[in-house]
Amino acid sequence: MATLSIRDLHLHGRRLFIRVDFNVPLKNGVITDDTRIRASLATIQFALDWGALPIIASHLGRPKGTPNMAYTLRPVAVRLQELLGRPVSFAPDCVGPAVDTAVDEARRANGVVLLENLRFHAEEESNDEAFAKQLADVADDYVNDAFGAAHRAHASVEGITHHFPKPAAGLLMEQELKYLSHVLEAPERPFVAILGGAKVSDKIEVIENMLGKLDRLIIGGAMAYTFLKSRGIPTGRSLVEDDKLEEARRITADAAAKGVELALPVDHIVTTAIAADAPHAVIAIDDASIGDRMGVDIGPLTIAKYDALLKDARTVVWNGPMGVFEIAAFAGGTNALAQSVANVHGTTIVGGGDSISAIKKSGMADRITHISTGGGASLEFLGGRVLPGVAALGNK
Ligand code: AMP
Repeated sequence: MATLSIRDLHLHGRRLFIRVDFNVPLKNGVITDDTRIRASLATIQFALDWGALPIIASHLGRPKGTPNMAYTLRPVAVRLQELLGRPVSFAPDCVGPAVDTAVDEARRANGVVLLENLRFHAEEESNDEAFAKQLADVADDYVNDAFGAAHRAHASVEGITHHFPKPAAGLLMEQELKYLSHVLEAPERPFVAILGGAKVSDKIEVIENMLGKLDRLIIGGAMAYTFLKSRGIPTGRSLVEDDKLEEARRITADAAAKGVELALPVDHIVTTAIAADAPHAVIAIDDASIGDRMGVDIGPLTIAKYDALLKDARTVVWNGPMGVFEIAAFAGGTNALAQSVANVHGTTIVGGGDSISAIKKSGMADRITHISTGGGASLEFLGGRVLPGVAALGNK
């Protein structure tokens, strides 16, 4: 059964509520990266081309249920207007009379409406029924294009859908589901997953679900140290989740039982502090001279090993950096891996803000099959969880 798409709706003359993920990074009110706005332009343009009036809604940051101008979507309205080339009527609240005024204005101007931050109301995150109905009341149809928010059962993602006969996926959501479902259901082999970043606990469920499907699992970043310590390897002051050692042992045994190659670093960069000017060195992974230093990036032998494991891969999923890539001296592993993933002849899917920025920085973004806009959501999806925002959409 396929999820309903915006392409299945009769849009002419309809007011279309479009939930997007315009949660862009802002610095002093200036958008530093507009990728998320661009990602939903096709959906908005599609709605306009078919004669709908788009009423666009998003969250931004964590204002915790009260209006806070540090998180206003006003700068997004300005940027959206530039990108779309159509007037954007900004409603200074996501419910109430401000919305009606903006809708009237947009209708006259042949433009679109952008609502103020949904999370200025606590009812958004609590999935309040009355609030969801209020949101729904201004529109005739509903489309969700916010894959990045689909793992949260919030009012604009879940509750609202009960008020529409055919809640549908936007073009971006549809694309995310297409690639991620393909990977879950029928991956070309060898199928390799690369997981990095800081927390094992975030990724355990994904690992458990994917082990049955993968050929190789590559682990890097701080996550690796929990696995290394669980094998009795000295980890110094590296970031370890001590309460997950047993889990790491279980995953190691499970991987062996299922014939999955679980790859861990063989060398690493160790430092006395996470700082650009801290002295650092490359040592073997089991070198006890780590003392009280910490591991912050994979070393050159590991880079070569991981590259070799990706050479013949036909499906690759990557989420999470190989080290503290925010500091140039510890970014080598993540950047090298970006290159290796870009070189793969097959389906490559990259998710998570850190991995995406590494891919972009390396200039390789256009060599990736699919860059997932939802880091957390894509991990949960690959972990086999039914996302509430996807489950709430209708089926064909
Ligand atoms: P996550 O949010 O779990 O994907 O983790 C991303 C963060 O992990 C980044 O900010 C990295 O700096 C951090 N990270 C990656 N490797 C290490 C490491 N070896 N030690 C400490 N932090 C790390």
